[in-house]
Amino acid sequence: MKIVFFGTSCAVPTAENSSTSLCIEHDNVYILIDSVGHPLQSLFKAKVPALSFSAVILTHFHPDHVSGFPPLLQALDLLGRKKELVIVSNDFTRDKVLKLLDLLKMQPGLLGFPLRFEDVFSSSELEISLKPGHHSIPTSMVLIKNNLSRILYTSDTHYSRDVSEAASGCSVLIHEATCPHSKIGRFGKDGHSSSLQAGITASESGVSTLFLCHVCTHLFSDSASITEEAKKAFNGRIIFPDVYKWYQI
Ligand SMILES: [Zn+2]
Ligand SMILES: [Zn+2]
Repeated sequence: MKIVFFGTSCAVPTAENSSTSLCIEHDNVYILIDSVGHPLQSLFKAKVPALSFSAVILTHFHPDHVSGFPPLLQALDLLGRKKELVIVSNDFTRDKVLKLLDLLKMQPGLLGFPLRFEDVFSSSELEISLKPGHHSIPTSMVLIKNNLSRILYTSDTHYSRDVSEAASGCSVLIHEATCPHSKIGRFGKDGHSSSLQAGITASESGVSTLFLCHVCTHLFSDSASITEEAKKAFNGRIIFPDVYKWYQI
């Protein structure tokens, strides 16, 4: 399985790094997770096939996670996509996304390709399911399994033992690290975690690799401190990923 990040920022991007969204590939099945900025530009940059990728997982209805979804559909339609696109989300997110499309006068039935809303995705070798996270609105963590590995992506969540329990048995944890722990009083209330808490959860869950994302870099003293804080609690491999670089996992 491979993974690429289109962005690793929180809702505040930098000049070079958009809000967090990513893509998983296994056996030529490509799955997008969240949809921000202009996702089609990200697909082109990462060489993900726009006409044939399989699904989009939408974790929750905050603008730094779903605002790129309508432009993605519009661009795929204009590009001539015919293949069905599966959208995986919780019910709350699905209902809000359908209302957003309606506001924009985008009727899913008039697209040149079918949209199918589901709460799981499965292909012959890949299975993706959702688990509830802890955030200011209903959100989903994403559990990805194939025959070799198991990965949990937290999306936005505050610290909870539920997260490490959900990641139990996983080799890789992709965890948000919105702020340094010194600022968790403010950001924890909004349903976010610090880099230290990401490390604590990685340690509790027994994973070997921790990817950090959804980082408000302007809140950290420097880029090294993002991973250094997680290292205080976790002895495994910690990666603050480069955008548009494919990682084998
Ligand atoms: Zn959020
Ligand atoms: Zn967010």
